[in-house]
Amino acid sequence: MSIEILNALKLEKTNSGTWCGTTLFPSRERIESFSPVDGKKIASVSCTKQTDYEKIIQTAQTAFIHWRAIPAPKRGEIVRQIGDELRKNKAALGQLVSYEMGKSLQEGLGEVQEMIDICDFAVGLSRQLYGLTMHSERPNHRMYEQWHPLGIVGVISAFNFPVAVWAWNAALAWVCGNVVIWKGSEKTPLCSIACQKIVNKVFAKNKLPDGISSVITGDYKVGEWMSNDTRIPLISATGSTRMGKAVGVAVASRFGKSILELGGNNAIIISDTAQLQLVLPAIVFGAVGTAGQRCTTTRRLIIHEKIYDDVKAVLKKAYTQLRIGNPLDQNNHIGPLIDQKAVEAFLYAIRQVKKEGGKILVPGSRLEGKNYQSGCYVSPCIAEVENHYEIVQHETFAPILYLIKYSTLEEAVALQNAVPQGLSSSIMTESLREAEYFLSNAGSDCGIANVNIGTSGAEIGGAFGGEKETGGGRESGSDAWKAYMRRQTNTISYSNSLTLAQGIQFDIE
Ligand code: NAD
Repeated sequence: MSIEILNALKLEKTNSGTWCGTTLFPSRERIESFSPVDGKKIASVSCTKQTDYEKIIQTAQTAFIHWRAIPAPKRGEIVRQIGDELRKNKAALGQLVSYEMGKSLQEGLGEVQEMIDICDFAVGLSRQLYGLTMHSERPNHRMYEQWHPLGIVGVISAFNFPVAVWAWNAALAWVCGNVVIWKGSEKTPLCSIACQKIVNKVFAKNKLPDGISSVITGDYKVGEWMSNDTRIPLISATGSTRMGKAVGVAVASRFGKSILELGGNNAIIISDTAQLQLVLPAIVFGAVGTAGQRCTTTRRLIIHEKIYDDVKAVLKKAYTQLRIGNPLDQNNHIGPLIDQKAVEAFLYAIRQVKKEGGKILVPGSRLEGKNYQSGCYVSPCIAEVENHYEIVQHETFAPILYLIKYSTLEEAVALQNAVPQGLSSSIMTESLREAEYFLSNAGSDCGIANVNIGTSGAEIGGAFGGEKETGGGRESGSDAWKAYMRRQTNTISYSNSLTLAQGIQFDIE
């Protein structure tokens, strides 16, 4: 299976080709990519050396001069072709995502679909990069604003969405007239290279220069080069809050712009009016989908005391039906965690829950045996806890679901908000009053607040991101494109005299 995927995406020449957007020499330092699905080594990828990084930056700077001169709708046409190329490669790329990262094939394909969707969105956007016009206070003057590209957009991304997050950023950045340098996660380097190969084809076919899209490979040190580099005016960084704190400070200290998309600690409030048979799939998909490794994974359930025991019983039963195994086998619900370190973090969280006085309802453990040889498979866990436990306040990137009881809606919302993160949230209710309170300014403090659907599974049309320690960035739909451009206010006089604003007189002979 693995070889077929790699061949389909023509990844066999990974180590010596021109996939970085400029010709590179392979370096001695390498990233080994192991599939968490079966533990097999699937690639050994050269890390970008600092000398190559310099060449990539220079190539990108030159490409920017060319690319920004192309009218935005024509840039949109290139992105349309990229969307089509992704459509052709959807099956192979979806399988690679599933195999290298470990999410289910359905979710791998869904991730590629998101890339296609954002390309479609960006094509339309390329004709809608609107600025406002204003009435000037001065006679015979006109004021308006326009949006210009920034230059190089640096994208640093996480392992759990190894292709879609780049596409969210790149498709918008390109139609806005920027060029993109992408450092994907060191845990999923083949996914980055596969994407670069797909877009390279389109740029080459249109006789566009190298450097509009570049991939660099390496760990956090390569990310640090980017964060500290004044030649990169915008860094869009997706990953842990720890990473975001470092990147945010480095970029701000050089007056760069950043889009930070960091960790979440997402809750669903389940009202006593909710219909249990409707909410169950939302909860289970939200908690165990991608083996609990989505930024929007449901980590806490805040359940009304009247139905608490019923929800517990239904969930316990549902968890016995979960099938865990090879994510490329569509019969399985849950694949592996990304690596053994993630398994250790999961087991640590379970120990901490017990230490802090929580009760384990569905025990989670590392799975062993012939189907789980990578050592990365776990059975998901449910625990009854108090919201203030230290471990509950942290994002554990694994399938551990915390149950918390409430009696009033105000209390439920306060509990939902009482964590440092602010990404996604949801309420399950049949009551309009409850739904509206949850969405009001006294309600959820998160960037995403849903009613009667779960916390995960955002569409590309809305702006995506969260508050507090989630970083405050917005990507994807709505007017998120504005972060990829600089706003310029223009005042034009067609008067025969020079008039100053605020009526100031300044006479000079
Ligand atoms: P991570 O923070 O370990 O790494 C993310 C990326 O940042 C990697 O490419 C890594 O090399 C780079 N990096 C790490 N430290 C850096 C530094 N000091 N300077 C520059 N770059 C650095 O995260 P991960 O384990 O790959 O991903 C999981 C995390 O990502 C979770 O916290 C999850 O919630 C978050 N995430 C958030 C979103 C969102 O949109 N809010 C989406 C996906 C994932």
